[in-house]
Formats: sequence, C-alpha cells, structure tokens
Amino acid sequence: MKWSSSYLFTLKEAPTDAEIPSHILMVRGGYMRKLAPGIYTYGHLLLRSLRKFEKIVREELDKRGCTEILMPMVQPRELWEETGRWKEMGDGLQKLKNRNGHDFCLGATHEEVVTDYARKDVKSYRDLPFNLYQIQTKFRDEIRPRFGLMRGREFVMKDAYSFDVDVEGAQKSYAKMHEAYTAIFKRLGANFRVVQADSGNIGGNQSQEFHIIADSGEDHLMVCEESDFAANIEVCPAIDSFQPKPPPPLEPMEEFATPGLKTIEALSKAIKVPANQLVKTMFFSASDDPAKDLKPVAVILRGSDEVNPVKLKNHFGLSNPPLMLNDDEVRRVTGGASPGSCGPVGLKIPVLCDNGIKHRFNFTVGANRDDFHLKNVNHDRDFKVTTWGDFRMAKEGDASPDGKGKLKSYRGIEVGHIFYLGTKYSKMMQANYLDTDSVLKPIEMGCYGIGITRTVQAVIEQNNDKDGIIWPVSVAPFVVHICLLDPDNAEAKALSDRYYEELTAKGIDVLVDDRSERPGVKFKDADLLGMPLRINIGARGLAAGEIEILERKTKKLDKVSPGAVVEKVQVWLKEQAT
Ligand code: ATP
Ligand code: MG
Repeated sequence: MKWSSSYLFTLKEAPTDAEIPSHILMVRGGYMRKLAPGIYTYGHLLLRSLRKFEKIVREELDKRGCTEILMPMVQPRELWEETGRWKEMGDGLQKLKNRNGHDFCLGATHEEVVTDYARKDVKSYRDLPFNLYQIQTKFRDEIRPRFGLMRGREFVMKDAYSFDVDVEGAQKSYAKMHEAYTAIFKRLGANFRVVQADSGNIGGNQSQEFHIIADSGEDHLMVCEESDFAANIEVCPAIDSFQPKPPPPLEPMEEFATPGLKTIEALSKAIKVPANQLVKTMFFSASDDPAKDLKPVAVILRGSDEVNPVKLKNHFGLSNPPLMLNDDEVRRVTGGASPGSCGPVGLKIPVLCDNGIKHRFNFTVGANRDDFHLKNVNHDRDFKVTTWGDFRMAKEGDASPDGKGKLKSYRGIEVGHIFYLGTKYSKMMQANYLDTDSVLKPIEMGCYGIGITRTVQAVIEQNNDKDGIIWPVSVAPFVVHICLLDPDNAEAKALSDRYYEELTAKGIDVLVDDRSERPGVKFKDADLLGMPLRINIGARGLAAGEIEILERKTKKLDKVSPGAVVEKVQVWLKEQAT
C-alpha cells in the first residue's frame, strides 16, 4: 500500500478520553475513529490486523473440524423468551421494535439462535456431533464502554457452539476447543494464561477464560507460582491458613463509644487492633429483583478482607452479582444504624459468616447503634450464624487451593472464554435427538467465544513503547514499512518500487511512506504505527551504497547494500518464525 494514495491520518496528541496506551496509540495511529461511545470505525490498518487474526482463528478451528456459518444480527424476542434471557440479560441486551411493533434484539451472543438452528435439522444420534462457529459483530449496551475496543458496545466476536450426544462427547469437544484456543493465542505470540472462571449468565458449570496478561487488564487473576493452578479472582477459592489454636476464654460482650469511627481503618487506628482482627459487616440483597423483594442478608468477614459478589451470586443461585443495600435499607434492617456502626448481634436477617472468622474470638463489631461498637463478640454465643462459607476475595499470599504454594496476583484482559453448557439450552428449547435406544434426549452443548477486536487491542497493550506500537509479525497490518525519504529522487523511487514488488510477490505485506514529508515526520509515524521492520531509502544512503533496515522492537539498525535488502528481510522473517 502506498501512503500517498491511501486513507491514513496520524495524530500528535492523545485523545482526551483514552486512558490506556493501546487506546491512545490506536487513535493516534489512525487505526480507528470513534463514532459514538463504544462504537468505532476500523481504519484500513486495523482491518488488516483483524483479518490476520481471524485467519489464524479460522485455520485452527477448521483444522479441528468446526464448521463456519453466519447467523442473524437481529433476533426475535420469542426466541429469547424461551430461555428467559430476554429479561435476565437486562438492559445489556439492546432491544428494538420493527414497524409492526414486534420486539427484536441485537445479537449479544447466539446460544438461542444456534440452538434453534440445530433443532430444526437434527433428528438422530447419527446427526451428531458437530461444532458451528461464526465471526460476527456483536452488540451489548455496556454500562461503561471504555478503553476503546476493550469494552466496546459494538465489537467483533468469534463464537462457536458444540453439539454432542452425551457428556463424554461434550467433554471431548470442550477439550478440543481448549486445545484450539491455546494454539490460537500461541500463534498470536501473546503472553497469556488460562484460568478457571465463572459461567456468568451463559449457564453451565465448567468454564475457563483465556487472558492476555497486562497491567491495564480489568480482570484480576490469582495464579499459583508453584503449580498450574490459576483462577479468575471471581471464583478463586479463598483458603485460610490461620492455624486454629485452642480457643481463648470467651470474654463478656461489652459496648463502647466510637464517635465518628466509620471505617475499618479509622477504628483499627483508634482502638489499636489490626484490621485482620476486626470483623466487618456488609449488607446485600439476595434477590434478582430487589425493587420487588429485597431479601436482605448480612455477610461478616475480617476487616482486611473483601466480599466476593460472584461467590454470593453463586451461593444464592442468582443471575447477577447481588447489589449492596443502600444506607436507608441498612438502617431498616439494623433498627436504625448507619453503615460503619453495624454488626451481626441482634440482626433478624440471615447472617453469612466467612470461613476466615471461624477461629476468631472476642472480636469487635458495630453495635447497630450509631457511634458505638461491641467488643468481645463471639459467633454462636452472641449471634446465630445462618451459613458458614467462602464469601471473600482470595488475596496475594493466600495458600493456593491445590495446596502447592502461594497465590500471586496478576491483571488480565479476557480475550477468550470456553463453557461446558450441558443441556441447559437444549432442554429449554427442546433441541432433542433420537438416541440408539430410541429415546428422545436433549443435545449436550458447549459454547466458546473469542473477542476478535479486544484481542487485537490487547496485543497492542502488551507490545508498545513510548514511541508507539510494536506489532508481532502474526497480526501486523504490514510487515515492512518503507520510508521513501526522497520521493523525488528517481533512483530512490525505483528502488522502493522494486522492493515493494519483490516483497509483495513473496507474500510479504509492504507499506510505503511516499508522502512528501520530512524524514523526521516519517520516522515518528513509522514508530507510532509499529510495523516490525522498517527500510529507509534516501539519496544520502544511496550515494554511500547503503540501505538502512531497522527492527521496530529493538531499534537495532543494519546497513546493507541495495541488492541484499530483500534477502535480509526474508532471513529476518524466518528467524522470527523459529
Ligand atoms: P466481560 O466479562 O469482559 O464483560 P463476558 O464474559 O461478558 O466479557 P463473553 O460472553 O464470555 O464475555 O464473550 C466472549 C468474549 O467476547 C470475551 O471473552 C471477550 O473477549 C469478548 N467481549 C465480551 N464483551 C466485550 C465487549 N464489550 N467489548 C469487546 N469484547 C468483548
Ligand atoms: Mg466471559
């Protein structure tokens, strides 16, 4: 591609709404432009990277017998009512009406549509197994679209769905997709981890996420340094290594004044007790519809721990993580105390106790009276525990749940997610097959997603420096960026054309910066755009019989004779592949 005849505009300044390097660089490099929050036009360079990543995805899936299809973006309400997700997905599902007043939604995911597709044709066990996939634009009305394509409202996803006769077959399909995803992210050249994950409102009970490791990642991962254990913090079991000693004598409970002490930190400082020995009380609504039915519960845990809403969601079998009670609701359930002065003693609602306080005695809690606390409080003696359980977030330094060392925390960007679904959708939607024993059975399913646009941005997030993007060859829009420094010099121009033709003929993608700009501008733009190799062709170098080849990643500069350039590029590419 020749820059002068293309559509490509770089910016000197970072856009004001971009917070992370990849977002800043993609806008500065003209890779994309915002149309509305979370909705972008992909420029030609970005489109090339997306196509390259899609090619990797298609190759790995096709190789494993998956079949590509393309399903509708606009879907009728009736289908989503069959699974109850028209309501369950909430406002994230973008709903619309047609001219006849019929309800539709934009595809946020395609379990319903693909199950409908399969139930129309599958009759017997002979028709199974198969795996259908598509690469398509999805729409989710995200509450807070941000970080460019990382959390967009409109984005491209590869979604795949497996259909099998039994659990064993479904597990095999799941394992095959795990293998395909591992191959895909390896070919991409990304530093990634596979972690145990929550199933969200997709359903099913086995799921793993693929994460690209990056400090700006929205997800928090707990990884064991000494073993393979890795989990999203949402589902990571929290192990309490606190060694139970014989319990101390239980002291009499006593109320004391704590004026103005509303936080664990303030209380800890004032009464000189470390936060991990204080006990805090949090209030949640164990209901999917708090406006109709509040179902308040209290969760008590060590002052230094955090409640894990996903564990609560799964404990109560809710569709979404429970909301915290607001101040008024807290006052209602505690008989008038504000958050900061609350505790479990005297509550008339269920009290969930985190395992972390099982071996804590004579602890301090809020007195359910503003500006007062109770000391020497003991579970079972002073308040009734409804349920003991693991309700907290795991922390760095906790014992790994597999008993093989300690957990370390990382930030990750969720780029892929695989689920075993079982018969959740096939039962609700009557997607059945006739088995060998002539019994009608629901099809066993799995579903598998890769965020195509999010992955490409995550690659940039993992590969950049102060000057710009550093593309890995796998998804670089172009591999070679020629800076033609003197476009009016006939010799330089002829050489540039020659390299362009010869490299292109060998299947190597070349971008030529043939604009009439100063060399400094061209070099800056080349660094910003981030193609792996740059070739500088200028009159001065030519006079000395030299062409410069610069590696973007290391900024290593080689000077070679004009005749050796094409060969040099090929050798470099071979080295990258090994
Ligand atoms: P998240 O937890 O980030 O909201 P999710 O778990 O809801 O994502 P899935 O339903 O598992 O997403 O979708 C499959 C893949 O699609 C994700 O792993 C992610 O890579 C991508 N994806 C999901 N939501 C978005 C979004 N808003 N913008 C870009 N990519 C997304
Ligand atoms: Mg997910």
